[in-house]
Amino acid sequence: MPTGQMPNNGKQNDTKTLIRFMLIALVVTSVLNIFLASASTRTVTQIKYSDFTNMLEEGKVGYVEIDDDRLIITEVDDSNSTEVNLYKGAKRYYTGRIDDPSLKENLDKMGVEYDTPVDTSSPILEFITTWILPILLIYGVFSLFMRSYSKKMGGGPMAFGKNNAKIFAQKETGVTFADVAGQEEAKESLTEIVDFLHNSDKYIKVGAKLPKGALLVGPPGTGKTLLAKAVAGEANVPFYSLSGSDFVEMFVGVGASRVRDLFKQAVENAPCIVFIDEIDAIGKSRDNQVGSNDEREQTLNQLLSEMDGFDASKGVVILGATNRPEVLDKALLRPGRFDRRVIVDKPDLKGREQILAVHIKDVKLDTDVDLHHVALATSGGVGADLANIVNEAALRAVRLGRTTVNQSDFMEAVEVIIAGKEKKDRIMNEKERKIVAYHEVGHALATAMQKHSQPVQKITIVPRTMGSLGYTMQMPEEERFLMTKEELLDQITTLVAGRAAEEVIFNTATTGASNDIERATAMARSMVTQYGMSNRFGMMGLESIQNKYLDGRSVATCSETTSTVVDEEVFKILNAAHKRAVEFLKDNEEALHRIALFLLEKETITGEEFMEILNNK
Ligand code: ADP
Ligand code: MG
Ligand code: ZN
Repeated sequence: MPTGQMPNNGKQNDTKTLIRFMLIALVVTSVLNIFLASASTRTVTQIKYSDFTNMLEEGKVGYVEIDDDRLIITEVDDSNSTEVNLYKGAKRYYTGRIDDPSLKENLDKMGVEYDTPVDTSSPILEFITTWILPILLIYGVFSLFMRSYSKKMGGGPMAFGKNNAKIFAQKETGVTFADVAGQEEAKESLTEIVDFLHNSDKYIKVGAKLPKGALLVGPPGTGKTLLAKAVAGEANVPFYSLSGSDFVEMFVGVGASRVRDLFKQAVENAPCIVFIDEIDAIGKSRDNQVGSNDEREQTLNQLLSEMDGFDASKGVVILGATNRPEVLDKALLRPGRFDRRVIVDKPDLKGREQILAVHIKDVKLDTDVDLHHVALATSGGVGADLANIVNEAALRAVRLGRTTVNQSDFMEAVEVIIAGKEKKDRIMNEKERKIVAYHEVGHALATAMQKHSQPVQKITIVPRTMGSLGYTMQMPEEERFLMTKEELLDQITTLVAGRAAEEVIFNTATTGASNDIERATAMARSMVTQYGMSNRFGMMGLESIQNKYLDGRSVATCSETTSTVVDEEVFKILNAAHKRAVEFLKDNEEALHRIALFLLEKETITGEEFMEILNNK
C-alpha cells in the first residue's frame, strides 16, 4: 500500500459526522415548524365564503383581518357583544378571499372593523428565527449530548466523532522487569527499547534509527501484556493501550478514528509506549478471506499510515501482542513497522520456578515447600497457570485453617488446575470403583514395566470435577525437550494399558478409556504424519501445524488416498501397543491385584507406596 494514501481519512470522517448532525437538525426543525403551523391553525376553523357572508348578515362577525389570500374572521363574543375580543377565546374562522368588490362596503354597513396586517418582520429575519436558529440550537444540544454519552459509555456503536474512551492510559504501570520471570530473552531484546525511551539523544546523535515497533508473540498467558507494561514501567513513561477487538466496531470508520486518537495522544505525551493487544483482531491478512471486513481493513490501513507517519525520534514506541503471528498482514511486519519480533514462549523448568518465586512473594510458606518440585509437575504450564496455582494453594491453606501454605497445598493446586476439584460426594458403586482402580493400576504398572517412561507420582480413584473418575499422575525427573520414538511408543502403551487392564481382569470394556484413546491416537498420528517415525512413509511430512501458539491444530497436506494409508499405519501402532500392554498385565496379574486392592482401600497412593508394593512380593 502506498504510504500517505489515507491521511485525509480523518477529515473526511469529521465532515461526514458534521453533515449527519446537520441533517438530523434539519429534519427536527422541519417537523417542529410543520407542527407549530398546524397548531396555530388548529384554533381557526375553515368555513365557506357563503357561510362568512351569512354570518356577516346575521351580525355575528366582530372583526375581519384581510390577508392577501384569505380572510380571518373573529366571531362576536357572546358574553359581551359590543366588545370585540380578539384573544379571549372568541371563535375564529378563515375563508378564501374572493374578489368581492362589495366586501368593504358590506363590512362598513354592518359596522364590522377590518384591517390588513402590516408585515413588520423582514423575510430574512423570519427565515433566521424559524430555520437557522433552531437548527443551530438542536445541533449544539445534540453534539453536547453525544459527546458526554460516548464518554460515559466508553464509545459504543453510538459514538460519533471524537472518541478517546477506550484508550487505556496509565501514567505509571507499576510493573517492572522484576515482575516478569522466566522470559530472559524477551526481556533482553526489550531493554534496548527501554534505553531508547530513557535517553533517546544518545541514539539520535549517532544517527541510529530505533525500531518503531516490536511484536510480542507467544501462547496465551505467557506474560505478553505484563511484559509490555514492564517496558513502560522500566522506562518510566506513560502506557497507552488498546485491545485489537476494541477497534472493530459496528460503524465503518470508528476503528480508524480510534487509531488516530490513540496516536495523537501518544505523540502529545511522548516519550511513551503504545500497546496494541491482540493485534491479530485488526491485523489479519487482507486477502485470505472471502467476505473481507471493510471496517477492519480501514482500521488496519489507518494503523499502517500512522506507524509510517510519526517521527520515531520523538520517543513513541509501539508494542503489539499476538498469539497468531501467522495470520498477520505482511504489511504490518515489514521494516519500519513491527520489524522486531520478540518471542514470549512457554517457560522451561527454571523459568517456571522463577515465576512461582515471583508469585509467592506475598504468600506465607511452610518450610516443606519445594518450588522446584512444583515446577517439575507443571510442565507445559504458562505464567498465568502458575499464578493461578499459587493462589489456589493459598486458598486451600485458608480453607484448611492453616496460616502457612505447605507443599501438599501446592500439589493439590496443581491437580485442581489439571483435573479439577475433588468430587468426594460422587459415590461410585463397588463394581465401578473396582474397574476404575484396576484401570488406573493398569496405567501405573505399564509405566513401571517399561524402560522409557516416567515414574509414577500418584494414583487416585477420587473423582474430579473435570470428568475423570481417577487418574495416574506421572512426573518427569527432569525437563525434556526431545522425545525418542521408543519413549513415544512406551507412552502410547501406558495410555492404552488402562483399557487393557479392564479386559484382562473383567473381560469387558468401559467408556472410561475415551480420553486415553484420544491421546494415544493423536500421539500415534503425529508419529506417522509429523515426526517421520513410520516405516511406511519414512521422512515424509503429511500434516502441518496451523496455529502453533494456540491449540496447535494440524491440517493434512496429503491426498485422500494417502490419508487412508495413514489411518492404517496409526491403527497398526495402536494395536501393537495394546497387545504389548495386555501381555505386560497378564505377566504381572498377581501384582495388579495386589496394588488394586490396596488402592481400593486407600483411594489415593503415592508413587513410593506403589513401588514398595510392587517390589514386595
Ligand atoms: P498474555 O498477555 O501473554 O496472555 P498476561 O501478560 O496477561 O499473558 O499474563 C497473565 C498473568 O499471568 C499476569 O498478570 C501474571 O500474573 C501471570 N504471568 C504470566 N507470565 C508471567 C511471567 N513470565 N512472570 C510472572 N507472572 C506471569
Ligand atoms: Mg494478553
Ligand atoms: Zn485411563
